[in-house]
Amino acid sequence: MLRRLVAFDTTSRNSNLALIDYVQHYLKGHGVESKLVPSDDGTKANLFATVGPMAKDGVVLSGHTDVVPVDGQPWDTDPWTLTLKDDGKYYGRGTCDMKAFYAIALAMLPQFVKAGLKKPIHFALSYDEEIGCFGAHSLAARMASEVPRPKVIIIGEPTMMTVVHAHKGSQTYITKFTGFEAHSSMTHLGVSAIHFAGEFVHYLNKVQDELDVAAPKKSEFMPAAATFNVGTIVGGTAGNILARECEVLWGYRELPGKPIDELGERAKKWLKEELLPKMKAKHPAATIDTVLRSSTPAFSPEGNDEAKALAASWSGSNIVGSVVYGTEAGIFKKTLGVPTVVCGPGDIAQAHQPNEFILASQIGACEAFMTRMVEWACRN
Ligand SMILES: [Zn+2]
Repeated sequence: MLRRLVAFDTTSRNSNLALIDYVQHYLKGHGVESKLVPSDDGTKANLFATVGPMAKDGVVLSGHTDVVPVDGQPWDTDPWTLTLKDDGKYYGRGTCDMKAFYAIALAMLPQFVKAGLKKPIHFALSYDEEIGCFGAHSLAARMASEVPRPKVIIIGEPTMMTVVHAHKGSQTYITKFTGFEAHSSMTHLGVSAIHFAGEFVHYLNKVQDELDVAAPKKSEFMPAAATFNVGTIVGGTAGNILARECEVLWGYRELPGKPIDELGERAKKWLKEELLPKMKAKHPAATIDTVLRSSTPAFSPEGNDEAKALAASWSGSNIVGSVVYGTEAGIFKKTLGVPTVVCGPGDIAQAHQPNEFILASQIGACEAFMTRMVEWACRN
């Protein structure tokens, strides 16, 4: 199953429909109906399906179908061909992040179907997680209205099968600075968008310093504070022209318990009240526009106890921790109002890397998890 799923190039820029179609037919072949929740433009879809009775108190197995690009990465094997090497590792894009989790569940589908489930097992497969958790919102909303309230949600992102009960939230923005061109010898006649974009980056660094100083000394998060990142800056056309345009893709990862948009609103206020007047003073045509690009809520530890206890008993691991990367956990937990944990095979260190792999032993550990989960689901 993992070999089949890896072979679909579901890089986020591509359609995921071939994979979704494959999964839908596979489920149907085992008598399991599924529903699709398409994207607005119809090029992608989420899928959800229920194995066992349409009843409450089931378990949701959640995964994202998309993977990050392999562009420019030095792979030793074909990233779209699952390759087992002598080192006990399966190589391929998406092996670890995160096709293995639901490949294992799908491969065990015949067992799920035959087991005589008293509690349902729900599959939830999303699109566009890697570029901002875009699919999960509509998927979770549909499941909230059409699936009887589950007991727990398992987000199968790579945690080495340990139980993760919290993570930071992530917010990203695009800020477009528009200046006015002039010859670079005549700086008094125009305004450079790049120079003001630079001031903005400097502002973000200063806020970061503040956050670092104020951060708690003891925290389960590393780093303990919210963290800013400027991912890309694009602007300018030539060495002797004041740049008319400069676009900054920036964002931050905020701690659970803090409003996700607080730092963004603060930065937007600074842009409007502090920076824009300075820019306009140089040339009245100057503008600064900011749009929200993605918002992934933090995953708070409160209210996850039931999911923690069950996932720990299925995984056999007593390690409960937090991670700093974002997942769909916050979206599912909030929308369905159900205790949630992140727990899946593989190590996040291999995610997004060239030669991404998953240890064969992690596949075994995840199978054992699913087996114990099925035993639980067969009890009243
Ligand atoms: Zn992932």
